[in-house]
Amino acid sequence: MQPKPNIVHLPVYQPGKPIEEVKRELGLTEVIKLASNENPFGCSPKAVEAIKREVENVSIYPDGAAVELTEALAKRHGVNPDQIIFGAGSDEVILMIARAFLLPGDENITADQTFPQYRHNIEIENGVVIEVPLVQGTHDLKGMLDKVGPKTKIVWICNPNNPTGTIVTHDEVEWFLSKVPSSVMVVLDEAYCEYIDDPSFPDGLALLRKYPNLVLLRTFSKIYGLASLRIGYGIGRAELIRSINQVREPFNTSRFGQAAALASLQDNEFIERCRKANKEGISFLQGEFDRLGLSYFPAYGNFIMVDVKRPAGEVFDALLRKGVIVRAGHKHYPTSVRITVGSAEQNAKVIAALEAVLQELA
Ligand code: PMP
Repeated sequence: MQPKPNIVHLPVYQPGKPIEEVKRELGLTEVIKLASNENPFGCSPKAVEAIKREVENVSIYPDGAAVELTEALAKRHGVNPDQIIFGAGSDEVILMIARAFLLPGDENITADQTFPQYRHNIEIENGVVIEVPLVQGTHDLKGMLDKVGPKTKIVWICNPNNPTGTIVTHDEVEWFLSKVPSSVMVVLDEAYCEYIDDPSFPDGLALLRKYPNLVLLRTFSKIYGLASLRIGYGIGRAELIRSINQVREPFNTSRFGQAAALASLQDNEFIERCRKANKEGISFLQGEFDRLGLSYFPAYGNFIMVDVKRPAGEVFDALLRKGVIVRAGHKHYPTSVRITVGSAEQNAKVIAALEAVLQELA
């Protein structure tokens, strides 16, 4: 039995190493994971309560259309409910967009390097990926525009970009949208947007009102701390969202995910606290990297890409032996690791471990 030829070469997704596996393999009792841009403070206690309440209903299918959550988010974002689609994480929204819109041979423009799920899903649909190198770790929107042609179907912009953490500004994205033909869909992945209060960061919802070819991606996995419940969403023009809805699996988001997300929206204080702690964490880590003479990309989300000036795999392994899991293996950044901003205690621990490792490897 032969699989589709276009999937034969696809890698199986390699997640950040799980804590339990590292503990077992290395015989460690204390391990911290700063590898998957998760929220070190968990989720809102209101979400925990909502999850507990939903246990009663575990045998009953969820509302596939997630009506209550859709209405709450529509209100919050000032859009109509028919402009929102939920997925099992924004990962699934990416999958559904590719599934609904891409024909074999359709061209897609992405940055190189960026979040790998765009390429992954484009290839599954037999689409073509045109990659445009980052410039100083940042999307080169002018270079991406130059690649737009008659076969271009979707442009994927990751903002902040994973793994580098950099952003393109509101004016830059608006310039891009004003130049790109309206027949080309522009997906703006804003997975980390709630962490950002920099006024130059795009107001995606304002852009959406002006550019009907724009689709925004958001998630409850990051600042809301609900990564394991798999709930993300897309916002766009109703006709586009309807097409995505047509390929959605009937019950793609769980009762737990929907209830926890809804409850999380009622806890601004938790979000504020996480945003503040993240900013403090970024300042601390950047200060420490400066002290250690390491350069890094400006960080806007909850992670920082730092150049450790040694093969990243060696530093990754040495940190692992000290019970700290980070992310390495970025093809264009062979001497950089991506570190998720943790709690103050975790941040201090990763710096102490990194300092020791760099001395050992010197
Ligand atoms: N987009 C970006 C840029 C991400 O970094 C991630 C998670 N790593 C996702 C989308 C997917 O997140 P989720 O599926 O958990 O919503």
